[in-house]
Amino acid sequence: PSPGQPVLRCENISRWFGGVRALTDVSLAVDQGEIFGLVGPNGSGKTTLVNSITGFYPPQQGSIHFEGQKINGVRPHRIASLGIARTFQNVALFKGMSVLDNILMGRHAFMHPSALASLFYWWWAEKEEIRNRDKVEEIIDLLQLESVRDEPVEVIPLGMQKRVELARALAAEPRMLILDEPMAGMNQEEKEYIVRFILDAKEALNLTILIIEHHMDVITAICNRALVLNNGSMIAQGPVREAVNHPAVIAAYIGG
Ligand code: ADP
Repeated sequence: PSPGQPVLRCENISRWFGGVRALTDVSLAVDQGEIFGLVGPNGSGKTTLVNSITGFYPPQQGSIHFEGQKINGVRPHRIASLGIARTFQNVALFKGMSVLDNILMGRHAFMHPSALASLFYWWWAEKEEIRNRDKVEEIIDLLQLESVRDEPVEVIPLGMQKRVELARALAAEPRMLILDEPMAGMNQEEKEYIVRFILDAKEALNLTILIIEHHMDVITAICNRALVLNNGSMIAQGPVREAVNHPAVIAAYIGG
């Protein structure tokens, strides 16, 4: 996108689950290189919005554009291959596999089917394997996972598992990263670590980030702008401090 053009643009998104209206007329625009916060009480529609953007729950109304291309109605794996990677609220790693192999999965999962077919050609496979390894090494280095690279993922601490998830998402070489409560269940030290790694990865890999986070201190510390949802509707959007200090937001939080 040209400068000033948003990388991600959602317009008037609405989504129902049966009779439950999870999102009502939600619009947002995320600019290249910014960290955009998605805030709101439990059940306010944050995850549904992320699931709409990533193709898991396409919205019944509204449009979503990524880098100028319409992506609502596009399947999740295709959206991933267009350059949007995400992490999940609950750690979803492949148990029994090493840290290294989990991160490598992040590359294979997004490989084009014709590229997978080419795996039969040893020359192609070997070249691709070297590129995969190089990329993964860079990410292991960036997220300081060297000491646990060969450990089965289930034996390492939760804070590190979260970091492996982040690494797996980055392995797909996304331009936009969506983080769903990356600090959930972490202690203060782990939280600070994850914030540092997110900021480092953003700089090193030139990412645009959309982040769902409950910790307001984290949101105000790292986000440029934020959108606050309540009951599936937008109650504030703008520069982060203005958005989170909006009277409607304070009322919603105290009321909730
Ligand atoms: P948040 O992420 O802010 O906690 P959610 O997006 O998970 O909120 O939920 C918003 C609303 O949508 C809630 O009322 C929730 O019960 C409903 N909802 C979300 N996903 C589903 C689903 N798959 N089926 C039915 N209702 C859902």
